[in-house]
Parts: sequence; C-alpha cells; structure tokens
Amino acid sequence: MKEILFISGKGGTGKTSLSASFAFLSEKCVIADCDVDAPNLHILLNPEEISEEGFFGEKKAKIINEKCTFCGTCLNLCVFDAIEEIMKNGKLQLFINSFVCDGCGVCYKFCPSSAIEFYDCESARIIVSKTRCGPMVHTRMESGSGSSGKLVNRIKEKAREIAKKDNMNFILIDGPPGVGCPVISSISGSSKAIVVTEPTLSAISDLKRILELLDRFKVKAGVVINKYNLSIDVSNQIKMFCQRLGLVVLGEIPYDHNIPKFQSDNLIPVEVEGKSSKVIKSIYKKFVILFLKED
Ligand code: SF4
Ligand code: SF4
Repeated sequence: MKEILFISGKGGTGKTSLSASFAFLSEKCVIADCDVDAPNLHILLNPEEISEEGFFGEKKAKIINEKCTFCGTCLNLCVFDAIEEIMKNGKLQLFINSFVCDGCGVCYKFCPSSAIEFYDCESARIIVSKTRCGPMVHTRMESGSGSSGKLVNRIKEKAREIAKKDNMNFILIDGPPGVGCPVISSISGSSKAIVVTEPTLSAISDLKRILELLDRFKVKAGVVINKYNLSIDVSNQIKMFCQRLGLVVLGEIPYDHNIPKFQSDNLIPVEVEGKSSKVIKSIYKKFVILFLKED
C-alpha cells in the first residue's frame, strides 16, 4: 500500500482538484484530507458521513475557584490575556477563556495555591465518509482551534487503518499549504509526492521550499504545472528549474475557466470532458509508470 502526497507549498494551486482526480482514476484508494485549516475535498467528493470521533489535541488551563485565593499571579503572568475577571453569583471570580488560552502552562506552574488544572480539549472531529471515489477521512475543526502536526498524523493513521482493513492499494493525501508542522507530518511516511505549482514568481519560491523539505525526507517528487498558459514564460522557467534538479514534470494543465463551475456542481475535473481532463488523465498514467511501477 502506497501513500501519495499532493502538496504545493502554498494554497490555491489546484492541488485538491488533482488529488480528487487521482482518487477518481485510482482503484481501491483511501482519501485523506490533511489540509485541515481549509479542507475542501468534500466540495468535490460530496461525502456521506459514516462515523466520527473527537480529536483531543490541545491542553487548556482551568481555574478551581474553591482553591483560588485571588492573588493575581496568573493574571499578571498570562501573556495571552486569557484570564478574565467575571462576576458570578455576586462574587468576583477568575475565568480562563479557552478560545484564547494557549495551554502554555505558566499559570499552572506559578499558582501558589495549586488552583489551576489542565484538561484535554477537543480541537477537531475526525470524520470517516463514503464517497464515489472510495472512503475519505477528513476533519471539522472546533472554532478557535489551530491545525497541528498531531491532527494530520491522526488523519493519516485513521486512513491507514481503513486501507489495511479494506486491502486498499493507495492512500491519497491532500496536504496542507506552507512548510510548517502539519506539512512535515503529511510528508512523513509518504511514498511519493506530486508537487502542484502554477506559473507565478512567488509559486517558484514556494516550490523550491517544498522540494527542499521533500528531499530531506527522501520522498521522490514529480511536478505538475497548473494553469501553465497563464504565463508560458514562467512555466518555462519552472521546467528549466526542474530539469536542473533532475525532477520529472509530469504535465502542464491549461487554465480552464469551467473549473469553478465544475466545483460548484460537485464535479471532479476528470469527470467532465474538457481541456484539463485529458491532460490530468495523461499525468496520472505518467505518474503510475514512472513512480509506481519502479517499486
Ligand atoms: S495564581 Fe492561582 S491563586 Fe492566584 S489568582 Fe491565579 S488561580 Fe488564583
Ligand atoms: S495556560 Fe498559558 S495561556 Fe493558558 S491561561 Fe495559563 S498562562 Fe494563559
């Protein structure tokens, strides 16, 4: 079973449309939406939820008012201004706003009365759904919660459990943007990666950063240039850059003004005959031959 990661270093390059297209073309795959801050695979795949579970990825502080002597130490030390004074039953009390608390533990460590405790806070729901392309693991973040590498790891673990149970061939991972902790978690354990870029100068620098990261993890990557015809000149620069590094450009997808319309109709680009559909199918074939048949 292989884990294929779709990554871009930045958002909005078309990585999700490509990963959904691969899911449509692949047999026996599990889809993992690891773009936890802005998940949008569900828009294309129209999932039907089967089960969900809580993800307790954060710790938050809580004041035990019976023990609090109101000394003010925690109020002065909390740099996040998470501790507030409130009136309750005619009495002034301290209250920790869980949306603001960072869980740094300073108040807990310095409270002279041991009046602060920590609790596991549910930061997301991990959902398993049925889609026309196979099972999908995705999340719904709680308000105010941030993404984390641990959450991405849990999504991948869940996808692996399903893949193992159902004897699947692939896990297709729609990775998060950037090069931070969630991205590192999404790379870790991946068999191969497809880096989706677009012909803008900022995309080239994002491409370089993500390729460096993949190289550190020794994950072999191929590159796809999306909307290549928006700047043929920059697309050529990207191709030359890839050539210098010995990287395979799997294909160049033309700009297709129909894509937003397909998305609003819950359609994956390869499901509709169009200029991008043909190219994506040839990218898929090339990827299978060059990246999967070699193993
Ligand atoms: S440091 Fe402890 S005792 Fe002092 S105000 Fe905060 S919770 Fe109360
Ligand atoms: S854990 Fe940190 S952020 Fe949260 S209330 Fe205590 S000092 Fe503030």
